[in-house]
Amino acid sequence: MIKLSPQALLEVDLNNIADNYRFIKNRLKAGTVCAAVVKADSYGLGSVKVAKKLYDECGCRNFYTAYFSEAQKLDAIEESEIFVLHGFAGVSPDDFVGTNIVPVLNSMEDIELWKECSKRHGKKLPASIHIDTGMNRLGIDIEKDIPIIANSDLEKFVDIKYLMSHLACAEEKNNPKNPEQLEKFNYAVKALGIKSRLSFANSSGVFLGEGYHFDQVRPGAALYGINPETDEQNKMKPVISLKAKILQLRDVKNGETVGYGASYRVSKSSKLATIAVGYADGLLRSFAVNDGYFYINKKKTPLVGRVSMDAVVIDITDIEVEVKVGDWVDIIGEHQTVDNFAVSAGTIGYEVLTALGSRYKRVYKG
Ligand SMILES: *Cc1c(COP(=O)(O)O)cnc(C)c1O
Repeated sequence: MIKLSPQALLEVDLNNIADNYRFIKNRLKAGTVCAAVVKADSYGLGSVKVAKKLYDECGCRNFYTAYFSEAQKLDAIEESEIFVLHGFAGVSPDDFVGTNIVPVLNSMEDIELWKECSKRHGKKLPASIHIDTGMNRLGIDIEKDIPIIANSDLEKFVDIKYLMSHLACAEEKNNPKNPEQLEKFNYAVKALGIKSRLSFANSSGVFLGEGYHFDQVRPGAALYGINPETDEQNKMKPVISLKAKILQLRDVKNGETVGYGASYRVSKSSKLATIAVGYADGLLRSFAVNDGYFYINKKKTPLVGRVSMDAVVIDITDIEVEVKVGDWVDIIGEHQTVDNFAVSAGTIGYEVLTALGSRYKRVYKG
């Protein structure tokens, strides 16, 4: 057997994910259930491990995925409900029957399909109903659809788990869209005349106050360390640490260029290090265009030239510590949070995490 040594390392701290879950849970109005959003493989960090941790140590029993196939990976977790945000996308309604996977119905067509399925199976089937309150992405329409549902026999066939909606601007505390959506949601629930539990807030929504909590909240990003309150110090614990090794060191003369497009030219004799991470590993090209930094022994080192698929170059001329091939360079962690990294790349932490890719050696703490 050839022993491979990892060139890039992604550490995921499951203990801190659990602490973030507890922190959010402790802020909730009495009686509000805290679900965990684990779609897209828990934002790229590993949904099976994350869900198991939250189930075993935090009592989490409600999970959300985007697709049925993502929920299937978790359905060994008994005594829990796994809600599928994209409902029947890619599967048949019958696939849900007899599982602990619950579809979110996003349209009148979805509702009809579920009613028919319920009739076919001769039993009332569980589902949530998504009401659009201003995202205009998924969900039934308040004006068009609600009067139809309000006068239907829906409850005879569907065991409605939650009426839910989703906030568009929750991370902006003073955005008037937040109270507007809240009002629409309250109106829609009343107009439906259905007695059901209610679910409204994502991570940031939790921090808008108890009026947004209802019966269940659905945090994702905050569990993974992303700041849910963009205008305040992050109260979440950091979850990932990302590092890569130095592949090669080189001295270059004044005037030499670095990387594709020869887009960067050194302005003095310089010492460069090539690092084993590229855009195939989620190191977004925009991270180097804007002013991106890595850290060596806590010392800031700038990226120079463009990010390639599997490598990027940093300028280490001015760092005083000695470096050698094989040394680790810190990318995300103590010195640079996911959110800071995202700002430098002109994006959000969500995209940074989900872009990380599959080449890292992954190490789980906890
Ligand atoms: C992704 C998603 C969430 C979780 O949002 P975060 O901002 O990551 O907390 C909650 N609800 C719905 C409908 C979503 O699509």
